[in-house]
Parts: sequence; structure tokens; C-alpha cells
Amino acid sequence: MVKKQFKAESKRLLDLVINSIYTNKEIFLRELISNASDAIDKIYYKTLTDDSLTFNKDDYYIKIVPDKTNRVLKISDTGIGMTKEELDENLGIIANSGSFAFKNENELKDGHEIIGQFGVGFYSAFMVAETVTVISKAFGSDEAYKWESKGVDGYTIEPWEKDSFGTDIILKIKENTEEENYDEYLEEYRLKSIIKKYSDFIRYPIKMDITSTRLKEGSENEYEEYTEEQVINSMVPIWRKNKNELTKEDYDNFYAEKHFGFDKPIKHIHLSVDGMLSYKAILYIPEKPPFDFYTKEYEKGLELYSNGVLIKEKCADLLPDYFAFVKGIVDSEDLSLNISREMLQHDRQLKLIAKNIKNKIKSELENLLKDDREKYEEFFKSFGRQLKYGIYSDFGTNKEFLQDLLIFYSSKEKKMVTLDEYVSRMPEEQKYIYYASGESIEKIAKMPQTELVLDKGFEILYFTEDIDEFAINMMMNYKGKEFRSVSSSDLGLETDENEDSSKSDEKENKELLEKMKELLSNKVKDVRISKRLKNYPVCLANDGELTIEMEKILNSLPN
Ligand code: ADP
Ligand code: MG
Repeated sequence: MVKKQFKAESKRLLDLVINSIYTNKEIFLRELISNASDAIDKIYYKTLTDDSLTFNKDDYYIKIVPDKTNRVLKISDTGIGMTKEELDENLGIIANSGSFAFKNENELKDGHEIIGQFGVGFYSAFMVAETVTVISKAFGSDEAYKWESKGVDGYTIEPWEKDSFGTDIILKIKENTEEENYDEYLEEYRLKSIIKKYSDFIRYPIKMDITSTRLKEGSENEYEEYTEEQVINSMVPIWRKNKNELTKEDYDNFYAEKHFGFDKPIKHIHLSVDGMLSYKAILYIPEKPPFDFYTKEYEKGLELYSNGVLIKEKCADLLPDYFAFVKGIVDSEDLSLNISREMLQHDRQLKLIAKNIKNKIKSELENLLKDDREKYEEFFKSFGRQLKYGIYSDFGTNKEFLQDLLIFYSSKEKKMVTLDEYVSRMPEEQKYIYYASGESIEKIAKMPQTELVLDKGFEILYFTEDIDEFAINMMMNYKGKEFRSVSSSDLGLETDENEDSSKSDEKENKELLEKMKELLSNKVKDVRISKRLKNYPVCLANDGELTIEMEKILNSLPN
């Protein structure tokens, strides 16, 4: 039997590419620049294997030229170009990637710098252009060709003139519609910002003629326009540089440039991981929470790059919620991207990176806690709540991971202490980790309930944030020591003798206690005689799971 080949319905497929794959029109420029960069890379790889060729870096660049009058945007490269056959195959067959084939044919071990692989990126040009013209001259050939298409109608190829090898992509930009503004793709500043956003770390210069104004020479108030060719991209990403070459200022500048925050980061972490999975990352722990941090509007995530090309601005999967405050970028060659390159194909690699990053952030915070307590306290003031929320919201499953990052105000030290510090100085007869909740440290210090515990010489942790008790409740214990509120009815303190005498006192005063309870019109569950007070005649205590403070918080929540 004759086996028939599938034929892709090109028109429908093209329609699909143009209208469905990409969510964002502006990425057409990312795709065309990536292709240009690949084309230069191919020459570069050729020179590696051919001794008769040398690669002179200055000869290789990408140039973007908008022409508003004619509504034309031109993207030129000095790359390897395409022969007539290649124009036919690579641009005539959707989902045919010459770049993918190049990588295979040349068995490039480190050819992972080449970006293309799906063979659809080129067609994204039709999202903004009514006609796409490609003029190309292949490296080592004397002939140039013009490929032209309006999209669904097919394409033409004819001989053309071109001086040097390389490719010009000429886009006739669509007219504005009611829904869509296409003019912006002819604006200098807009093009510049798209290049910065997606292609800042393309390894070859992306040039544009930029027009600015300046003071006329010899004049004090007369200005003149002048045009100057500028390189728009920064080419070498800071994360590919060696740590030793970089100063704290470089990292701070990058933080500001990326608009991660208006503050200065408390700490930066620069990772360069090789092995099963290679990636590079720069992470920041900010000093202050962004204004919307503790709201639903805040979006966590790290910028994700594949080979220096931006894939996702906020990749949420890279950060657990409790580290939502971390800012930064991750760049990996090992990601398998889906066809629009806006998402990842498999998240296995991503999960591995995320796990790695999570551990790294934790250990860096631990170091900060050890080495620079003052800075850590500053950090904790900003983001401690997020860590506690992490313990609470995951039903304590993150307890082990996060518990040593917590600090609380201590009655004994009059400053913030860790749970480990607390437990390590507990006297032997002390059963519980005591805490007291209240609005402020001053108010807690005046609570009658703290008297007895303090009297015993035991330390109390002061909980001043709503989340504190809830998080601690999820933790249940720390290193085997249970937490106990000072307003709990069982403090594990009263000696048997004390309790017995309280009990007999209660019997003797049964009527009085009943009367008091009645007078309080059952606002309290019980009235008991206690030996825990010294300077105060009375205090409130709680009996069940919830402490008084927690009840207050729960009652204040909207239903
Ligand atoms: P991909 O980049 O994923 O391979 P594209 O649709 O972006 O897919 O491009 C298809 C193919 O066309 C590329 O693989 C490459 O062979 C060729 N091509 C596109 N643009 C250029 C260019 N500027 N110079 C040389 N070849 C190009
Ligand atoms: Mg491509």
C-alpha cells in the first residue's frame, strides 16, 4: 500500500499562527531579531570549523529602521542569508525550521545559543504587517532573491539586487483599526522599548538611528535635531558576567534598571549553576515591601529567559508564596519551550530550578540572620509576615523549612530572638514556650497574665502581629516544645499544692463565684480562683484551642 503524506492546510495553519499562537503583537520584533541573531550565529559557527574564515565581530549586527512616511519597518542583519531554495523551504513551509536543521546537521554541542526551533516565529510578522518582503543573499553566493507575501495568498520569489550577504525583512505596517494601533510599531521610542524588553541580551548589537535634540553650538537657547546611530541592547547580561567583576553598585543598578523596586535591595544572590540542569540567576531580597505587596494585586514571580531572550516577565512557578517578595531573573538554556515561547513545555526543569532557588534563598536568609542581625531584623519587619503566613497557609507543612527564620520579641532579651535561642536557654523545669499576644510590646508588658510566668524567671515571646498565633498554632511545637499562651488556663506551672488549695478555695467560695458569673451575665464561661496573680486582682484566661486574641481577630473578620 502507498503511504500518503499528511499535508498541512497552509492557509489555515498560517491563520492559526497569526491569530492564535501569540497573545501579544509586539513579540513579532522579538521573533525577527531572534532569527537575525541565529543567522549571525550560523556564520560564527562556520568560522569555528573553517580555518579560511575569520569572524570579525564589528561586521555583524542587526539594524532596525522605521520609516513613518512609507509605513515601513526594516529589520536587517549581516547574517548567513538564504539561497533561493532556502527561502522556499524555510519561509514557504510553515513549521519548517532551518535553524533546527542547522543545529542537527552541524552536530553543534554548544549550539544551544541558536534560538529558533519551531519554524513559526517568522510568520508572527503578519500580525502587524500587510506585506512581508524578504531580501536575502546567502553567504558565499553571488545571487540575491526577493521573497514576498501578503499572508494567506502564498508568496513569490524573484531575483533581486543586494550588495552584501545577509537578510532584510521589510514590513509594510498595517493601517490602524478601531481596536488596534499599529502606528506605534513605527515609533522610535516604542521600538526601542520593545527591543529592551525582549532582546536586551541578544549577543550582537541591535542598532537604530535615534533622533534627539541638542543645543546648537555656540548658542544658549537654540536647539537642533541630530541623528545618531545607537546600540540599543546591552548584549552581555549581567548574570553571565563573573561575580568577581561585579560590584554591589552594579547589582543595585540592575535592580533599579529592571524596576524591581525604588528601594535598595538588602541582599543579592548571584547563581551560576552547571550540571544536570544549567541556569544562571540573580535574585534580590528587597528592603521594603512594594506598596501593594500585602494585597491581592501583588503578582509574585521571576523574569524567565531562555538564552538571553525574555520568555516570561513574571514566572510565578519559580517562587513559593512565602518568598513572594524575592525579585530577579533566571536564564536557562535547558528549558523546553512551547511553540509561542510564552510558556514552558514541561515544567520538570522549572520545578528543579524552583526547588534549587528556594533552598538558596533560605540559606542566604539564614546567613543574614547569623551574620548581620540588624539587617535581618529590617528584612523581617518588611517580610516576616509573609514567612509566618507561609507556615499558616500550608497547614504547617513548611514548618521545618521556615521555622528557623522566625524571630519574635523576647521579654528577657528586650529584642528579637529566634526560637532556637529561646529553647536553648530554657531552664529544665520549663515545659512550654510561653507567648503573650497583644497590640504592642508596651501593652503586652502590662498584661497581668504575664506576671506568673515572668515571676518564675521564664522568658515570654511577645506576639504583636495578627498572624503570629495562627502560625504558631499550625506549628504546634518547636523542637518538641509546645507553645503555650500566657492567658491559657493551664500554664503547666501551678504546683500540685497550689492547685489543691485553689480547688479547696473554690469549694469554700462556690456561692461567691456563681454570683460573679451571674453578674457578668455569662460573658465569661467560668470564674475561678487562681494563684497566678500577684499585683493584679483579676485576669482573663482562655480554656480551649483559641486564645482571647485569636477570638478577637476572628470576630473582627467580615463574614
Ligand atoms: P525558527 O526560528 O523557529 O526556526 P522561524 O519561523 O522564525 O522559525 O524561521 C524559519 C526559518 O527561516 C529559520 O529556521 C531560518 O532557517 C530561516 N530564517 C528566518 N529568518 C532568517 C534570517 N534573518 N536569516 C537567515 N535565515 C532566516
Ligand atoms: Mg525564529
